[in-house]
Amino acid sequence: KKQADRYLKREVLGEGTYGVVYKAIDTKTGQTVAIKKIRLGKQKEGINFTALREIKLLKELKDPNIIELIDAFPHKGNLHLVFEFMETDLEAVIRDRNIFLSPADTKSYLQMTLKGLSYCHKKWVLHRDMKPNNLLIGSDGQLKLADFGLARIFGSPDRRFTDQVFARWYRAPELLFGAKQYGSGVDVWAAACIFAELLLRRPFLQGSSDIDQLGKIFAAFGTPTSSQWPDMVYLPDYVEYQYVPAPPLRSLFPMASDDAIDLLAKMFTYDPKSRISVAQALEHRYFSSAPLPTDPNKLPRPA
Ligand code: ADP
Repeated sequence: KKQADRYLKREVLGEGTYGVVYKAIDTKTGQTVAIKKIRLGKQKEGINFTALREIKLLKELKDPNIIELIDAFPHKGNLHLVFEFMETDLEAVIRDRNIFLSPADTKSYLQMTLKGLSYCHKKWVLHRDMKPNNLLIGSDGQLKLADFGLARIFGSPDRRFTDQVFARWYRAPELLFGAKQYGSGVDVWAAACIFAELLLRRPFLQGSSDIDQLGKIFAAFGTPTSSQWPDMVYLPDYVEYQYVPAPPLRSLFPMASDDAIDLLAKMFTYDPKSRISVAQALEHRYFSSAPLPTDPNKLPRPA
C-alpha cells in the first residue's frame, strides 16, 4: 500500500519556500498533520541519496522544542514531508496588536527557541533559516523550531527565490560577507534578531538588500574593527566601510532589562568565534533572574 494513502488531505495551509503545505489527517494515528510538498523540479532521478540520508537524520531529531518530522516519502514526483500540526507561529504572536508580551513571556519564547537550537547544535545540525514564522506554536503553547536542516538539503531559500526578503533580516554578518564555512553562530545571530523583535514588536534590522542589511547592522552595532573580528578581512565579500560609531545598545532597547541587554550584546557579537553559544546563552543570568519565564501553557496567543 502506498505511503501517501495513509494521509487524508484537507485544506491548503499556505505556500512556503519549498512548495505548498497541506493540512491532513494521519489515518494511522488520527493525528492532524501538516504535509509539505517539495517540488523536486528538474532533478529527473528524483532526490539524490545525500538528500534522503539527510532527511533520515532529521527524522532522528526528537526534542520538545523541535517540530517532529513524522514521515517522508516521494509521491507523483514531489517529496512529501509530514510534520506535526501546529496552531500558530511566533510571527503571528509578535504582529498581533491585541497581544501584550510581558518580559516573562518574551523570556519564555526565547528560552524555548534556544532549547530547540541547543538540542540540534549538540547533534551538529544547523538550522540556517531561523525567522519568527519558522518558530511554530502548538495548542499547548510549546514553541517548536520548524524547517530544521531543510536549507542545507534543498538549498538556501534566498538563492532559489530572489523575492524572499525576510530571511535576510536574520542573516549573520559573516554570511553577508560571503563566508563559505560557518557554524552554529549563524543561528545564534538569527535568534538574537528574534529576541530583539520580541522586545521591539517589529523586525529589528530590516535591510532592503544584502549591502543595506550590513548597513543596518553597522548602524546598530558600529562598524566592526579588525581587533573585534580578526578573521573578517579574509572573508570573500569583505570591503572596507566608512567608520560608524556604535550607539549604546540600551538606547535601541529602552524597555529591556539590564540582563536582557547583556545577553543581547553577547548574541550580537561580530566575531562568530567570540559570539556566545546557544548552550552558554541558556546559562545566562537573564534566564535565572526575575521575572522567571512564563509557563508555556500560560503564554498569550492569537485569538
Ligand atoms: P516558509 O517556507 O515561508 O517558512 P512554510 O513552507 O514553512 O513557509 O509554510 C507555509 C505555510 O504553511 C505557512 O503559512 C505555515 O504557517 C504553514 N505551516 C507550515 N508548517 C506547518 C505546521 N507544522 N503546522 C501548521 N501549519 C504549518
